[in-house]
Amino acid sequence: MKVALTVTDFIRRAELVYPDRVAVVDEPDQPAESWGSIDYREMARRARAIAAGLDELGIGVGERVAMVSHNSARLLTALFGVSGSGRVLVPINFRLVAAEVKYIVEHSGARLLLVDPELADALADVECERTMIIGAESDAVLMKFDTEPVGWEPDEDATATINYTSGTTARPKGVQLTHRNLWINATTFGWHMGVSDRDVYLHTLPQFHCNGWGMLYAVSAMGGRHVIIRKIDGHEILRRVEEHGVTLICGAPAVLNAVLDAAAELAADGRPIPGSGTMRIVVAGAPPPTKTIERTETELGWEFVQIYGLTETAPLITINRNRVEYDDLTPHERAQKLSRAGAPSFGTTMAVDAEGEIMARSNTIMAGYWEQPDQTDAAIRDGFFHTGDGGTIDDDHYVVISDRKKDVIISGGENVSSIEVEDAIFQHPDVTEVAVIGIPDEKWGELVTALVVTAPGSDLDEATLIAHTRGLLAGYKCPKKIEFRDELARTATGKLQKFKLREPFWHGAEKQIN
Ligand code: AMP
Repeated sequence: MKVALTVTDFIRRAELVYPDRVAVVDEPDQPAESWGSIDYREMARRARAIAAGLDELGIGVGERVAMVSHNSARLLTALFGVSGSGRVLVPINFRLVAAEVKYIVEHSGARLLLVDPELADALADVECERTMIIGAESDAVLMKFDTEPVGWEPDEDATATINYTSGTTARPKGVQLTHRNLWINATTFGWHMGVSDRDVYLHTLPQFHCNGWGMLYAVSAMGGRHVIIRKIDGHEILRRVEEHGVTLICGAPAVLNAVLDAAAELAADGRPIPGSGTMRIVVAGAPPPTKTIERTETELGWEFVQIYGLTETAPLITINRNRVEYDDLTPHERAQKLSRAGAPSFGTTMAVDAEGEIMARSNTIMAGYWEQPDQTDAAIRDGFFHTGDGGTIDDDHYVVISDRKKDVIISGGENVSSIEVEDAIFQHPDVTEVAVIGIPDEKWGELVTALVVTAPGSDLDEATLIAHTRGLLAGYKCPKKIEFRDELARTATGKLQKFKLREPFWHGAEKQIN
């Protein structure tokens, strides 16, 4: 027997087995009316109501619905209601500016755009066949409780979500993740993390980011509780861990740093650290320093787990979690073991090519880039997905990521395409040459930095040029530092020698990523 694997499986089980359990505690203080706490019966009912609403709006199977939203119970439910009825959800990064959102809405061909009320003004000019502000308005139009949805013949190979990610091209690419990709990622991730019905999962990871790495599906299937948080703040995270008995969070190293800073203040006041002895935190996006890993254990009393992956891999491909062999090590030795990206997750084969590029083969790898078959063929060839990350695989099969083959900067866990930033800077008439590189930064991992040559006689300064990029790019992509130069290192054929430009900033660093 072969039964199609779809995202509906996750919520259907929760509804069947744990109908009366609190499914989600929405952010209480937010511009849209909060959903408060709803149980799994109600969450599943609302997901079906979204499907019925889309029927009424005439949005057909395979058509796209875009949603720009901070973390919310509504986005969580839409991941089931939209994808689960055969439509494709396009969750968009809420930090993007109007021009960037416009590109994604147009490129994905979305027929409906749902916008967070906080972003309504900023995104007012983004056009779509139909736009709704998320909240009472969208609930009323989108959720139809009086009719049953028409139903969709489940197809595990259908695209469930398209997640746009910045990469090596000037524009973000739309990663098509199928129901099968999401299902296998979530069940594998949930198994590796031992997710159970006792888990309380705080959404510190943006839900748009690869659908919260798929953890939100795994938690749902087990009837775990979701707690939504809209803005990342170390103290607030600790407060909610305490208030809701949170057991599990995911995030970029910047989230962990924020928690460590806040916890240090609590400790200085002689107060206990919430979640000590019970919490586990899954970190990815960049390799966290060994010291940070050690502090997670010694100062927070939380379990540290590292994973590695990309939006294109749904994302889990390697995992590094404490194992029996590490039990008798000192916290420092254990942190050293946990600083590698990890061993292949169940069902994944990892390899490294002759040039040192890390490759992966797995059922979690995307179907392709939306409407970019050439880019898909370049990324998936010879049976492997080429990650663009440089590294090695140790004798014990653990992967170490040490540099990046692709021209991507990772700041605060989000990808920034150097080319995209260079394009924006170039639009200033005084700029004649530009190279954008990442430089190591303690807080954000890497800082977007521009090296710029200006036209003779120009008096362009750093602040003016940064301000110029603000209208074109999301804040996290804008350069934080600009250095003016007389010339930029180039090869004989005129190609920028980025490794040379990076050298003075990375001198002495163990790895070429941070
Ligand atoms: P994204 O598609 O936005 O999730 O970004 C994926 C990229 O983040 C990867 O290609 C890596 O460059 C980086 N990354 C993710 N996890 C790790 C990790 N554990 N260590 C080093 N880099 C990572």
